Amino acid sequence: MTNPAVGVMMRVMIMIIEQTCSHCSGTKVFLDALAKWNTFKQEWVLHQEYDHAYCRDCDTECDITERNISNGT
Ligand SMILES: [Zn+2]
Repeated sequence: MTNPAVGVMMRVMIMIIEQTCSHCSGTKVFLDALAKWNTFKQEWVLHQEYDHAYCRDCDTECDITERNISNGT
């Protein structure tokens, strides 16, 4: 007996977001954040992000603009 669920195509939607500079649309934007040491992972884990952002493309403080770069198909 065949399973009717087999062959049903699941369409996976993947949205890819780019964080860009509000001044120059560059992508070398950095966010102030707090990292917390995780002894189990033996690495710094991002704990909290702040609103203050800096762009290395135009060397200034900026606002972050989110851009959806998924191809819409
Ligand atoms: Zn910039």
